Amino acid sequence: MIHFFNFLYRHRYDIFFSFLLFILVVFMVIIFPKEETKYIINFMENKTFDIRQNIISKDKKVNQDIVIVTVDDPSYEYLTQKYGDWPIPRNVYAEIIEYIQSQKPKYVALDLLFINSLNRIKGSDDKLIESFKNYANTYTAINFDDFPPEMRTPPLLDDKIKSNVIFESNNIYPLNFLNCRMILPEIIGATSNIGHINTPKSDDGFIRTIPLIVSYNNDYYLYMTLKLAVDYLNKYENQNISDIYVDSNNNLILGNRKIPLTSDAQVILNWYGNNDAENGATFKYISFWEVIKSIEAKQNGETPILKDNLFKDKIVYIGTSVFSLSDIKTVPTSKYMPGVEIHATLLNDIIDNNLILKASNFHNIIHIIILSFLASLIVFKIRSVAVSTITISGLCLLYLYYSVYIMAKYNIWIWVIIPIIVTVIVFICSFIIKYLIKSRDFEYTYKLATTDGLTELYNHRYFQEQLRFKIDRANKLKTSFSLILIDIDFFKKFNDTYGHQAGDAVLKQVAKTLKSNVRSEDFVCRYGGEEMTIILNNTNHDDAVNIAKKVCSAVASKKYQLTPELEVNVTISLGVATYPFNASNPTELIEYADKCLYKAKENGRNQVGFID
Ligand code: GH3
Ligand code: MG
Ligand code: MG
Repeated sequence: MIHFFNFLYRHRYDIFFSFLLFILVVFMVIIFPKEETKYIINFMENKTFDIRQNIISKDKKVNQDIVIVTVDDPSYEYLTQKYGDWPIPRNVYAEIIEYIQSQKPKYVALDLLFINSLNRIKGSDDKLIESFKNYANTYTAINFDDFPPEMRTPPLLDDKIKSNVIFESNNIYPLNFLNCRMILPEIIGATSNIGHINTPKSDDGFIRTIPLIVSYNNDYYLYMTLKLAVDYLNKYENQNISDIYVDSNNNLILGNRKIPLTSDAQVILNWYGNNDAENGATFKYISFWEVIKSIEAKQNGETPILKDNLFKDKIVYIGTSVFSLSDIKTVPTSKYMPGVEIHATLLNDIIDNNLILKASNFHNIIHIIILSFLASLIVFKIRSVAVSTITISGLCLLYLYYSVYIMAKYNIWIWVIIPIIVTVIVFICSFIIKYLIKSRDFEYTYKLATTDGLTELYNHRYFQEQLRFKIDRANKLKTSFSLILIDIDFFKKFNDTYGHQAGDAVLKQVAKTLKSNVRSEDFVCRYGGEEMTIILNNTNHDDAVNIAKKVCSAVASKKYQLTPELEVNVTISLGVATYPFNASNPTELIEYADKCLYKAKENGRNQVGFID
């Protein structure tokens, strides 16, 4: 128990500071509501993802088999001038499908919603429906939402566009939608190549993930591009994928590919660099107006703008990229991206097998532990604060590079924000602990160097130092101070009678009595042997003599218990000297006090002595 209290006492500063830190952390947790903290950390982590993607996407080449045909701004003007207001008649799409299909592409996917609206033009819709019937490699979209069932009755969807999904994992919850915007039922009649195109945004409005599987009315629906990808892998890579299967580790298994899903069945896209189509950094775009003009040229027997085999063996995505049609998304690598390019990106990621996997909590925590360990090692091994601060900054920078490398090489997203926050906190705490230990060591050595082990009074060296210091100060401030020299009476005899042990005990007791009879700013020192001194701050001679007398009678009146049966008395003799009245330097001051002390001895001891 004593050991325990000793331990507590020795570590009192560490305990105090740890407690302060603890209070600070508790306080921060209280003032930072959990949700907000989580939001801020997620927000920052997402931004680091974007930065990493921006760095690594520059070196990535897209699959040259993927081509995008879009309604861009010039096409929008061209189309509305030619066909009137948006939407354009659907036979235009039928003609485009016909034109592209004539060049034998691998797939054609329309990122467009052919809504069942009142102003549909029957004849032109029929042409589009016919295209879906004719070409089994053509895909189109539906879109789910959460509109109130009172506004729009949630439609029942045909079984053929649902998907059978087997979940081995029981901690995966696909996004669930309550309603669906119906497309032309005849299109559903014509093809089962229909998938959803919902792309939910992160909190900050960016799209980083795609929900591959969603649920509606207790059925599962696949993302349009996933449906296409499954067919692609079966046909062109001889995979044998029939059911959609998610293993116990939340991986969607597509033949020989494992696609890591988040807990809501989304994938994190790996993005491709922006706007450098010439070098293959992003997908090849063809404008709608070019396609339409080429179709017309062919009909009129003229030379078309587009080459005849442009779409041969390509996977062609058709969508809009015009701002006014609002299919423009914010993504990590470029400010805006048309929804159709997000499809192309996902397909490219699946074909290249490079979707992003989030590192497990276990791995992230291992990183945090290693970084924290290195941070405290840096603090304790490096002497200079500047060097250790530079080193820790270097370590954090290295970790950032490492996180980019891991994403570039292994497509793994490791945490950046939490590890760096923890590292910085550990770094600061290690500094606090280091200085606590240092200051405690310093305090200990200082005490060793200045005090006497037996009496715990200041030692001779410290006394001499203080004396010089007090003289300097008195000179500077024109003040005075006094010195009392004390000697225990007949101490040799005392030792001879009761033994040295008893002598030591009495010496200690006398020291204590002296200390308790002066002010805290006065210095009580052991001059040597059984001689002690008191330096009295700012004290004139008369006051010093009074204090000396008080101390003298305090020692004399005290009973010293040597053994339970034996009680003795001890007396002291004292001499007082005041600076600058009795001396002009330390030696003279001590000599004057010593002379007075001698007088006290001469006059019978147990008194304050004076020179006549
Ligand atoms: P007086 O001063 O009254 O003339 O007589 P005294 O016997 O005290 O004289 P003196 O100064 O000659 O003797 C000092 C004695 O103090 C000698 C020594 O045995 C004892 N002494 C000095 N330091 C210590 C110590 O640390 N412990 C103990 N027990 N005795 C000490
Ligand atoms: Mg003596
Ligand atoms: Mg003596």
